[in-house]
Amino acid sequence: MIQLFRKQRRTVKVPAEVADRFGEAFGQIAAGDIAELLTCGELNALADVMRSLGYPGRAEMWTEAHAQGDAEGDSH
Ligand SMILES: [Zn+2]
Repeated sequence: MIQLFRKQRRTVKVPAEVADRFGEAFGQIAAGDIAELLTCGELNALADVMRSLGYPGRAEMWTEAHAQGDAEGDSH
């Protein structure tokens, strides 16, 4: 028997100081060290969180850093 679970779309509140600490912690140095090690799916999930927390520039920077490690046919 196959059970399908549909995730409900929901909104989660995050304290502003938590969002800011996240945005500041995952800056350029971290992107240079880590972004290429992430899978495309992991990068997309991280970038979505960054955009949701108000850091679209960080999301773009991480995507660009990650893309440098993508192989032919990868999504970035
Ligand atoms: Zn990728």
